[in-house]
Amino acid sequence: MSDLSAQSVSTWLKDFADVINEQANYLTDLDRQIGDADHGSNMSRGMSAVAALDPASFTDASGMLKKAGMTLVSTVGGASGPLYGTFFLRLGTTFTSDGELSAADLARGMQAGLDGIIARGKASPGDKTLVDTLTPAVAAAQQAADEGRSLAEALQAASKAADQGRDSTVDMIAKRGRASYLGERSKGHQDPGATSMALLIDSAARCLA
Ligand code: ADP
Ligand code: MG
Repeated sequence: MSDLSAQSVSTWLKDFADVINEQANYLTDLDRQIGDADHGSNMSRGMSAVAALDPASFTDASGMLKKAGMTLVSTVGGASGPLYGTFFLRLGTTFTSDGELSAADLARGMQAGLDGIIARGKASPGDKTLVDTLTPAVAAAQQAADEGRSLAEALQAASKAADQGRDSTVDMIAKRGRASYLGERSKGHQDPGATSMALLIDSAARCLA
């Protein structure tokens, strides 16, 4: 069972920053198909700033998560910055105490993050956005928690569902964000934000279990 702390959150965020840097060109290529070819550089700039935060300067996981969220909002110009920023801010307001993180805590935090993203971006499932990755991931985490499974099992289930959610965006017609300008022509392309969100959940499954 993993313990929640500024240090464990930092380990996760640094891992995600590394993955984003490795995948930046791929994410930008996806955004070139249906957007403006900047998703990789947006996420890379934001997560590099987050990775530079020193966990020792925060008293707990909550403080670290909130600062990460604010850093993304302020360093990323694109739509993804405020949306990812909101996700981490909501995690920070949900995970109010350090210590043991349960599958139920995970599901509650992810649900709060998803609610924040939807409140901010107004996307629904099926609109071809990162919501299509996060929605099934939250449901899988909640189901694992309801079945009394461990945090590690909940994270594994969430990661698998996130990957399927990402893949489901290929056949969708975009209804939100820049890709929506393309209408029918957005079909056949994987959504860049749905792709980076699956990387975030995969990273959580590696680092938080
Ligand atoms: P921008 O679209 O401003 O260039 P990015 O390229 O960094 O920003 O991010 C694009 C991604 O953001 C999309 O692939 C999509 O997943 C996500 N996105 C855009 N608008 C919304 C929205 N209203 N709600 C949820 N996600 C959105
Ligand atoms: Mg873009």
